[in-house]
Amino acid sequence: MSEANPLSVKSAQALVLARVARLAVETVALEAALGRVLAADVGANRNLPPCDVSAMDGFAVRSADLAPAPVALTIVEDIRAGDKPLKTLAAGQCARIMTGAPVPAGADAVIRVEDTRPLAGERVEIGRAVSAGNDIRPLGESMRSGQVVLTAGTEITPGVVAVLATVKCAQVPVYRRPRMAILATGDELEGLDEPLDPDKIPNSNSYALMAQAQALGIEPVLLGIARDNADELADYLRRGLSYDVLLVSGGSSVGVHDHVRPTLEALGVSMHFWRVEMRPGHPVAFGTTPTGIVFALPGNPVSSMVCFEQFVLPAVRQMMGNRRLFRRTLAARLAHPVRIRPGRTEFIRVVLAREGTKDDAATETPAYRAASTGNQSSGALLSMAQADGLLVVPAACGEMAAGYAATVLLLDGSAFQEQPGFAE
Ligand code: AMP
Ligand code: MG
Repeated sequence: MSEANPLSVKSAQALVLARVARLAVETVALEAALGRVLAADVGANRNLPPCDVSAMDGFAVRSADLAPAPVALTIVEDIRAGDKPLKTLAAGQCARIMTGAPVPAGADAVIRVEDTRPLAGERVEIGRAVSAGNDIRPLGESMRSGQVVLTAGTEITPGVVAVLATVKCAQVPVYRRPRMAILATGDELEGLDEPLDPDKIPNSNSYALMAQAQALGIEPVLLGIARDNADELADYLRRGLSYDVLLVSGGSSVGVHDHVRPTLEALGVSMHFWRVEMRPGHPVAFGTTPTGIVFALPGNPVSSMVCFEQFVLPAVRQMMGNRRLFRRTLAARLAHPVRIRPGRTEFIRVVLAREGTKDDAATETPAYRAASTGNQSSGALLSMAQADGLLVVPAACGEMAAGYAATVLLLDGSAFQEQPGFAE
């Protein structure tokens, strides 16, 4: 393990992703597939629509008949969705037709009912001329039999569920989700179920990390709190290393009671880095075993959450087969100046508000304004709880003036992108 050169966030992300493989494929029922990632291409097993069908409630006509419109036509048939037309239209004839119903032979256009007027007997007046193909959905317009309609790596959204149901994919091949264990460490920690002792620190990290994982569709196991002694820690870590992903918070820094990294190494974990040039979150370590990965996250509550965002999130999304590994970013105008100590990429907790009323996307002017949520200390959890996103201050930057267009990583929601989207 190199201890000499701390890494940039992007280099550390790249190191993690280079060592993280997609998990195995399993099959789930379509009803349980939302949020998963398709592990195989899916093809259409029929033409849709199966023939030329009407896009409107109206009349199937021969477009040539309508040239002298208005024109009166004779209705020879009523056709509903699912029917088979019985007649071929001759000159001067039309058929009443419903949305989705097959267009009869002889007809080459549909005219919607709003452009017609009923006449006595089985006759109708067509108010205007249309060209061939008007309001007809041609055979195979939605999908053609044999066509690949979804590719492996597609995230299963409600729209994708609709396509899977359409091609009758009741059992869906998806990538397995990682089994994840979360371990808190520290003699000072008080468990959620323990009585309040004013001299102790409540264990919030286990639950913050759990919730961050749950938001990605993972159900982690909480291993509890390991005390700061090497033997007890080793027992917990051994258990944790049987999972696909182990998250350990605290004890990863350089204090004399920080046993996590040496204990992981003693248990055979290959450590790939242990510091990243970022704030909050500097003392973060990453290691691998033949069967899993482990992140030693900083103990400070905000640091541990920010490190999850930067490293754990893309790693587990890659394991689950996602193509979009990173939080969506947007440009936002700073509401106030920001000053940092240069040298580390800094992530500032911000709230976003829309600027003005018009959508400025066309002019590339940021439509959002970002303002700090307050105290940016790595222990200030309330400012994390209020944050919509993390504003990125590049390591070389030092200062950003009010009004500057900065990059913000969105913390909430299900929108992701393929690239990290910020410069350091
Ligand atoms: P450490 O990295 O172990 O030195 O911890 C740094 C700081 O984070 C200390 O002030 C700890 O009390 C705090 N901390 C460590 N683990 C947790 C936890 N699970 N929940 C909340 N705070 C923690
Ligand atoms: Mg500690």
